[in-house]
Amino acid sequence: MQKTNFIRHKEPEMHINKPPEKKLWQKPGPFSAWYFILVFLLFYLFQSMVQVKKEQIPYSQFQRYLNANQISECVIRGDTITGTLKLKDNRTNKPRHFITVRLRDDRLAKELEKHGVKYNVTVENHFLSNLLFDWIIPFGLIFLLWGYLGKKMGSMGMNFMNIGKNKAHIHAETGKNVTFKDAAGVDEAKQELGEVIEFLRNPEHFQRLGGRMPKGVLLVGPPGTGKTLLARAVSGEAGVPFFNISGSDFIEMFVGVGAARVRDLFEQARAKAPCIIFIDELDAIGRQRGGPVVMGGHDEREQTLNQLLVEMDGFDSSKGVVVLSATNRPEVLDKALLRPGRFDRQIVVDKPDLEGRIEILKIHTRDLKLADNINLEVIAKRTPGFVGADLANVANEAAILAARLNRDAITTADFEAAIDRVIAGPEKKKTTLSPEEKHRVSYHESGHTLVAELVPTGEPVHKVSIIPRGIGALGYTLQLPEREKFLATKQELLDQIAILLGGRVAEEVIFGDVSTGAQNDLERASEMARNMVCSYGMSEKLGPLTFGKKQTSLFLGSEYGEEKNYSEETARAIDIEVRDVITTAHQRVKKLLQEHRSLLDALAVKLEEKEVLSGEEVNTIIKKG
Ligand code: ADP
Ligand code: MG
Ligand code: ZN
Repeated sequence: MQKTNFIRHKEPEMHINKPPEKKLWQKPGPFSAWYFILVFLLFYLFQSMVQVKKEQIPYSQFQRYLNANQISECVIRGDTITGTLKLKDNRTNKPRHFITVRLRDDRLAKELEKHGVKYNVTVENHFLSNLLFDWIIPFGLIFLLWGYLGKKMGSMGMNFMNIGKNKAHIHAETGKNVTFKDAAGVDEAKQELGEVIEFLRNPEHFQRLGGRMPKGVLLVGPPGTGKTLLARAVSGEAGVPFFNISGSDFIEMFVGVGAARVRDLFEQARAKAPCIIFIDELDAIGRQRGGPVVMGGHDEREQTLNQLLVEMDGFDSSKGVVVLSATNRPEVLDKALLRPGRFDRQIVVDKPDLEGRIEILKIHTRDLKLADNINLEVIAKRTPGFVGADLANVANEAAILAARLNRDAITTADFEAAIDRVIAGPEKKKTTLSPEEKHRVSYHESGHTLVAELVPTGEPVHKVSIIPRGIGALGYTLQLPEREKFLATKQELLDQIAILLGGRVAEEVIFGDVSTGAQNDLERASEMARNMVCSYGMSEKLGPLTFGKKQTSLFLGSEYGEEKNYSEETARAIDIEVRDVITTAHQRVKKLLQEHRSLLDALAVKLEEKEVLSGEEVNTIIKKG
């Protein structure tokens, strides 16, 4: 089932190397050791700089200087003599200093006297001077530097001085008034969490009625659907403290630190019960054990996970501590985490449907000044597949755009622009397409558009664009479903495949040659055809059977593998059938576009000229033709 109806190119993105994520730099690395070495080096540099002026000379040299009347003054301290020569340093033109180890020489005083040297004897005080020079100053320096670096690294996400201790944000958060009113489109999740709230409000009462509270609740859903938001809202609704930590925060540079942190976290939480522990991105620690070792972080993660399991087994939920957790990758979680008594309750937080999107838009526009004629439903209709975070983003972008244009209120046009922006990244006005490429992309997109308008079940085209946006998208054709769809018929699937092929075939018909621009289209068409044959039993030759057991994650419906449960012979038959679906569709589309060549030309010319066509403009062109 296709819920979204974006038909876009994603072609060249494969070739673009994304810059490494910034996060990488914050990962604990060999940082600590390097800084230590640096501190010591700096210290020794400092020390040698202070002493650089004192020339170490042998005692014999000292006597030679003495006999030659070259010494102006000296200080005898214990076994060392330091002093100043009458000779000047060539470079600095200052008297040279020397230091030498003294021989027990009783005649020294006389000698000095004889040569007219000012001399001074200080009482040896090893203890004090040693303490000062060998201990206090160096260690003071080290601590100063350490503190400074620690702070610096702390601000970069790692805390040097605080190894083994919890980070500040583990401390209970209260007073952040997030409630269920701030989350929409997730009614089922809210309902299920209602019970947790009841329990947290009054643990004793809840238990007297025989309720057994799950210790761990796992929120599962795609990124940006509001899992973190819901967890906060639970604490807000129940009015209990909220201990928030992200799974990746546990993984530190030293083995054992994460485990210590888990212990500490549960200890703190127990003291504050009733309360919520929220572990975001559980997959960061909760990944299956025994997987491939990644950058030595393996032992650490495993120990942390084990500690988490121990803590969850060890605490008594009647005390009123509930562990909430969130992940968007439940399939990688260690099975041990999902056993009874741990995260045995999963709540799916799914992408919002149309109603949900309207509600979410209401939430995120409640503080914005909207034009009177704005219809949030239209905006919600334009954004199938958007999650809460996307919609929050849209509202924000729309406000920014309106402000930039000095409007008094945010208009529908601002929202449209904001949606485009969120769909495909910031608009690239300065197109990097060559004229030939632009020509080709115009035909390609017109191909999608025309087929969408011509096939019986095609959704009306809302917008078609050849403005390159963000990375990779060269253009897109956007269809607006008239209503949210949850079922697709065979005819609809065939039509969708035809629409997907439309771009490629248009290039074929017009240029007699094809480009790489259809890769994403073809991929999706092939997948759809394969699903028709293997999953939906829509092949006449093979009959209403399914082939291949999809290993689907229980919660999200995301597939991560396939178990082959058919023979080689069937495999071949499947391949033939899938190819048949595609080639039939290909012929159909080719015929369609050849028949309506004039319409295709008209669309492409207009599109090349204007770069963006609205649904109405498309309609006008097609009606005229
Ligand atoms: P997740 O944790 O699922 O990745 P978040 O809870 O961090 O998503 O959502 C990020 C932001 O997106 C939220 O702070 C909120 O502004 C917005 N948002 C996400 N889902 C919803 C929702 N269902 N209702 C309202 N706002 C939402
Ligand atoms: Mg989150
Ligand atoms: Zn395409």
